[in-house]
Amino acid sequence: MANYLTTQKAFRTLLHGARTASFSQAYIFEGMKGVGKYTAARIFANAIHCTGEVRPCGQCPDCKKHSANTHPDLIIIGGSGETVKVEDIRGMNEELYIKPALSEKKICIIRNADNMNQDAQNALLKSFEEPPSYAVIILLSENVKNLLPTIRSRGNKVVFEPFSEQEIEEYIKRQYPLKKDIIPFIALYSGGVIGRAISICEDEEFFEIRKKMFEAVCRMTGDRLSIFSVAEVFGIKSPKTGFQNCDLYFDLFVSFMRDVMAIKTGARIINADMKELLDSFSSKVTLSSVISIIERTANVRSQLNVSMKYDLWIVNLLINCWEDIHGKGSRS
Ligand SMILES: [Zn+2]
Repeated sequence: MANYLTTQKAFRTLLHGARTASFSQAYIFEGMKGVGKYTAARIFANAIHCTGEVRPCGQCPDCKKHSANTHPDLIIIGGSGETVKVEDIRGMNEELYIKPALSEKKICIIRNADNMNQDAQNALLKSFEEPPSYAVIILLSENVKNLLPTIRSRGNKVVFEPFSEQEIEEYIKRQYPLKKDIIPFIALYSGGVIGRAISICEDEEFFEIRKKMFEAVCRMTGDRLSIFSVAEVFGIKSPKTGFQNCDLYFDLFVSFMRDVMAIKTGARIINADMKELLDSFSSKVTLSSVISIIERTANVRSQLNVSMKYDLWIVNLLINCWEDIHGKGSRS
């Protein structure tokens, strides 16, 4: 079981609900990417289906099916980064109206629910408003503002807060004892997002990629062609893999810019071992250009999905960032 979640109030409340059979039929889990929404939804669903004593017990037939991803009464729509389409929702609706096969409840988890377009949300509306008596529907969302007001008002909102620095530190200490030297860095860099902390611990190349990214970004104070070395670190040469790993690249890019902002405002920097590069970049750019880059990047990141031309979006973003650095009218 994902023990890191046990400190989260939202998670404990859900688990208690599952164990005492006091849960609702329509949920919206809200929180940043990587904060544990999906893991919590899976454990919650498992606990509802479990027939053991302390649920989820991990031993009963239902639990075994959950861990093998073969439970017939669990429907999961939308993988990470995938857009949920209207056909997906229609398919889910059909399945939802078939009674559960093994358990008393049929549970549906919709990931990236806030990426659903209007049609998909409309298709969801009826089953979300009046689900069959045995159904539980859980929407996972980074930004509930993208959901229709009618959907928002019908779901029980469960907010997943980022973890504290101390909680991240304790978790890493316990789970990744070999990483103890970099714990303070991970705690800061992850910003309370447990998924990000775990990926640093598991990615042997993290520091190498960070170095490449930071050096490339530093060169953006030079001529316009410099953006291509940054684009390369973003993985545009193989756009498919690049897109799959883009969270790491975006996090690094933004972390660099945040640190530059911190230098300019006298705040604490995260990538302290890279201070020389950050100082050099900081001395050549204005605070407003850095703020503009951070906003621009967040905006592109929230729009990107698997059906878009990843390489073109990245190059276009970087051209705009370069213009932020060099001032308007520098495009010739
Ligand atoms: Zn069980």
